[in-house]
Amino acid sequence: MPDLSHYVGGARVAGRSDRFSDVFDPATGEVTGRAPLASADEVADVVAVAKAAFPAWAKTPPLRRARILDKFKFLLQEHADRLAEAISAEHGKTHEDALGEVTRGLEVVEFAVGAPHLLKGEITENVGTGVDSHSLRQPLGVVAGITPFNFPAMVPMWMFPVALACGNSFILKPSERDPSASLLIAELLTEAGLPEGVFNVVNGDKEAVDALLTHPDVKAVSFVGSTPIARYIYATGTAHGKRVQALGGAKNHMVIMPDADLDMAVGALMGAAYGSAGERCMAVSVAVPVGEKTADALIERLVPKIEALKIGPAVDRSSEMGPLVTAQHLAKVRGYVDAGVAEGAELVVDGREFRMDRQGYENGFFIGGTLFDKVTPEMSIWREEIFGPVLSVVRAADYDGAVDVISRHDYGNGVAVFTRDGDVARAFSQDIEVGMVGVNVPIPVPMAFHSFGGWKASLFGDHHMHGPEGMRFYTRLKTVTTRWPTGMRADADFVMPTMG
Ligand code: NAD
Repeated sequence: MPDLSHYVGGARVAGRSDRFSDVFDPATGEVTGRAPLASADEVADVVAVAKAAFPAWAKTPPLRRARILDKFKFLLQEHADRLAEAISAEHGKTHEDALGEVTRGLEVVEFAVGAPHLLKGEITENVGTGVDSHSLRQPLGVVAGITPFNFPAMVPMWMFPVALACGNSFILKPSERDPSASLLIAELLTEAGLPEGVFNVVNGDKEAVDALLTHPDVKAVSFVGSTPIARYIYATGTAHGKRVQALGGAKNHMVIMPDADLDMAVGALMGAAYGSAGERCMAVSVAVPVGEKTADALIERLVPKIEALKIGPAVDRSSEMGPLVTAQHLAKVRGYVDAGVAEGAELVVDGREFRMDRQGYENGFFIGGTLFDKVTPEMSIWREEIFGPVLSVVRAADYDGAVDVISRHDYGNGVAVFTRDGDVARAFSQDIEVGMVGVNVPIPVPMAFHSFGGWKASLFGDHHMHGPEGMRFYTRLKTVTTRWPTGMRADADFVMPTMG
């Protein structure tokens, strides 16, 4: 069984800690590799490498930095299939879905290639007589990204293309469950001409994360993962003087108004609830049909589609839904289905009954699509993030009731409304307390040139990711006020300087 590595100073580096975490093929249930878990000392060495690489990279003209990222973009396109295969092999998602995440990541690289324009500062001539002011944005130094298992390529690419374009050096701590994509990405960056040490990958668990959070030379931390860890990352990182953006978990609702195009809503709901086996932070896990008639019609149309889902390994390119990431996660999701039944929700389709009978895949971490009706806000299956192919239907009597359900939730990542009524759509978009809103769009993930982020317990920090917010997060503002000797008073002035 191969040992995976770290990637430091432009090359793969073996782990020294003698601690490892098993990496599985979720479709077969077999261990396919071991990810090294870095010690605090190993992390300190990586920080030193990134710190040494920073000054020259920060001084590299933005246009030259952008050209390297542009080359990286072409390499990503060339190797997209290989990268997607590495993702599917450790995450379990279908090949097309993995290719989709590579494309969404690539779009951030395309955005970052525009850095020379995006980093342009502001200048005001004559803020006072003979005095000019200009503002510029400078890189922070060594910055770190800590990422979850569910998008092993896209989520790192929400972060590092922007961070690198701004002139920072970067340390990625990917999920120990599917680390291979990060290592491939690191190799492509080196091939694109990125100087050694500017982008590094350190594999690890809490020990590595804590070492990054407390190291004085790490200036900023971007995190994406579950809410309890996001909260911890934000509290610990900021207590150690770092800039932190920590994106957490989600429970995304989709409201279906009585006037919605129901076929369109059902199609959207199937993809959003069961795509990637529900392991997406923007997955729709709660449908909120308005009115009993809408709810009955919705469920009637959903059931045959859920029962017909093509569940299988990624190597079968016709699969629509793959396995869950690990046996523990499968047990957790099954536990939520048990809890829903015990709490009194109506189990309409029971994914626990699914059996994978294909030879070689009998021990994969598969579960079928699951549908609950008559879920109420007291139930744990509504309150908590399940992160599996489990859709809950919460029936609302009217529009206000639907908005009330969403407002009561702790999370505020994504939300959607399906309607033909412009007034409803407008009111919903304006009033709902959620960071990303879709109108007849089930998964409203903003494009790279906008910014991604939720509200409430779905994000801790002041900046969303990529787009203009990403540029702000990875740079600090400096304002320079300039006067030239001509006409300058030589004598000291002890009052507060005023211009004019
Ligand atoms: P996770 O929180 O378990 O892990 C995320 C990262 O934190 C990993 O790199 C992991 O090694 C590290 N980590 C785990 N436990 C830690 C600890 N005790 N101390 C320090 N570091 C620790 O999340 P996951 O299971 O990998 O990913 C799924 C979660 O991520 C879901 O909750 C999902 O909603 C969330 N997510 C959110 C977004 C978003 O944009 N808001 C996007 C993708 C995923």
